[in-house]
Amino acid sequence: MESQSEAVNRLQAAFRSGLTIPEKFRQMQLSKLTSLIKDNEQLILDALHKDSAKPKFEAVLSEIDLVINELHYAIHNLRSWMQPDYVGKNLATKLDDCFVRREPLGVVLIIGAWNYPLQLTLLPMIGAIAAGNCVVIKPSEVSGAMEKLLAELIPKYICQDCCAVICGGAEETETLLKNRFDHIFYTGSQRVARIILQAAAIHLTPVTLELGGKCPCLISEEVDILAAAHRLAWAKFFNTGQSCVAPDYVLCSQATCDALLPALQQTLEDFYTKDPQKCPDLGRIISDRHWTRLTDLLQKSQGRVVLGGQSNQSEKYFAPTVIVDVKEDDALMEEEIFGPILPILTIESLEEGISFINRKEKPLALYVFSDKSSVVTKVLEQTSSGGFCSNDGIVHMTLPGLPFGGVGASGWGSYHGRWGFETFSHRRSCMLRGWALERINTLRYPPYQENNLGWLRWTISPKKNVFNNCSLM
Ligand code: NAD
Repeated sequence: MESQSEAVNRLQAAFRSGLTIPEKFRQMQLSKLTSLIKDNEQLILDALHKDSAKPKFEAVLSEIDLVINELHYAIHNLRSWMQPDYVGKNLATKLDDCFVRREPLGVVLIIGAWNYPLQLTLLPMIGAIAAGNCVVIKPSEVSGAMEKLLAELIPKYICQDCCAVICGGAEETETLLKNRFDHIFYTGSQRVARIILQAAAIHLTPVTLELGGKCPCLISEEVDILAAAHRLAWAKFFNTGQSCVAPDYVLCSQATCDALLPALQQTLEDFYTKDPQKCPDLGRIISDRHWTRLTDLLQKSQGRVVLGGQSNQSEKYFAPTVIVDVKEDDALMEEEIFGPILPILTIESLEEGISFINRKEKPLALYVFSDKSSVVTKVLEQTSSGGFCSNDGIVHMTLPGLPFGGVGASGWGSYHGRWGFETFSHRRSCMLRGWALERINTLRYPPYQENNLGWLRWTISPKKNVFNNCSLM
């Protein structure tokens, strides 16, 4: 069997041969990726169900369709993304061709996560292939059925000279990281992100980090409380709370909390019946280890469970759980929950909520629920986060026009749509110059003349209304 380094060397040779550069080749791989999904939809659904009992409805929306839509978007827009951007010029460069050209980086490594094991692996791959790179895919070993399926299907559909799938866990990934890549795209925890960064530092490899964090949901008093409960519960308990953009905790006044609790109780019964353990619309926790982590977190919390709280280890079942009287120093507030536990913290005012959020690391997403646009605008303007959505949760990430990514500790860089293409491209500054006007060049050659300096400064300065986007030379 081919070793990791043999696979990387093979892709490096293919990249150097120029195989992946033509638009036609890239379009062909994107079309084949579309066929991979369409031909194997049932196998994909089965693997997702095997890994975490993901309901078909959630799997289609958040994995299959997200990938198919991204593929359509990339196939449709690739030609325009590949076009050079001509920039404004000054007098000194008037006869030159000055443009930004997107070039592939080379062989890139994509390390996927288990919670959306198809989407989080293939969406970055679409950006990388569209940009003309060769790709090494390392799916998460935690979602073992999808890891196996991707390793089987990708070589059948995608040209083997431009893509390799490497399986394994921490040990295999650490060995893989010893190879030199031209970019590493990592989705996962902050802990592993530090390991990735250390490995990348050795080769000075640029890195995109798609991490997590605690996404707040600030609910003001002016909302339709039942609609708020529906949207909050859907965003929180979709994929059994195992979404990096799930609302991690709620901040609201005591009065809003008092109104929200019965609305949430009604909502959870409507969504998952009175016996959620038997409800096919609620998936399972991905592994025993993750189930135990959530159980420990709940036990350590000083809060009061008001809804849910039941769990069953053999089934990796965890009920949608709501917990109140949670304080800032509670165990539930120390790390990202990444499961179906929703703590509600009470605040006295909107300002207190904003200040609470700003004391923490910048989150991957921030949600505010309010009828008042002044409240939404205030939260938007006075906080920072990777993404922002008012009066709903998660849905902002379905639009390929919006960049998806974190800020600060929730991640570096972004993807989706054109943003993925840009992440995997080098923007090369190009100036194509001929041999004309050499007499003018003599102005800048030694021996330096004071009066020439004035002329030169004039030729490179931006001229109003004449040079669009003109920057200094
Ligand atoms: P993880 O960091 O444990 O694993 C992710 C990947 O890293 C896997 O492919 C795994 O094989 C690899 N890995 C694990 N240990 C390693 C090691 N020691 N050395 C090298 N590689 C190693 O993350 P996870 O548990 O899969 O995901 C949970 C976290 O990821 C949460 O914080 C969540 O918010 C975040 N997340 C972020 C996004 C996003 O798009 N921003 C998406 C999903 C998950």
